[in-house]
Amino acid sequence: MKSTADIRNLIREIPDFPKPGILFRDITTLLQNADGLKASIDLMAEQVVAHQPDCIVGIESRGFIFGMPLAYQLGLSFVPVRKPGKLPAAVHQVSYDLEYGQDSLEVHQDALSIGHRPLIVDDLLATGGTAAAAAQLVQKTGATIAGFSFVIELSDLNGRKKLPDDVPVTTLLSY
Ligand code: 5GP
Repeated sequence: MKSTADIRNLIREIPDFPKPGILFRDITTLLQNADGLKASIDLMAEQVVAHQPDCIVGIESRGFIFGMPLAYQLGLSFVPVRKPGKLPAAVHQVSYDLEYGQDSLEVHQDALSIGHRPLIVDDLLATGGTAAAAAQLVQKTGATIAGFSFVIELSDLNGRKKLPDDVPVTTLLSY
């Protein structure tokens, strides 16, 4: 089994993407490596099992890539949080600020309810705006967030500060 150091070596760094001055952490090179991909899911599962989630909430789209196999591994169900206009039934919506402008996330109103303990999954925690919006969506359903799980955290950006207090956050790699 590969270690987190091996996983770190499989993350490619792309300078000036999507904009000048940004160093993008590219997870596709990790996905291309079967052992690395399996180790990522195995290690995430080991980290989060103590939080006792009863389902996985994956954030479109890279949160689906890691969230779905994690759900399968843990024997849990999966709830997609999607960009606006993609989900067919009645939704809750939360808008959040980007560097320039705003974006929104949606979840089906009947996907979660009081008593559920979802774990929110994405590939990367940067400023925390995306994960915080997903957390607000989950809270609108009445469910209790069991935790957050990310492959990568950009710790200088202090994304954790935007997430609800008292909810555990686990990451495989910190930069
Ligand atoms: P935040 O809202 O925390 O600032 O940004 C996190 C979101 O942006 C995540 O959904 C993540 O997929 C995406 N993101 C931002 N920067 C990167 C990056 O360097 N690499 C990857 N893979 N995703 C990023």
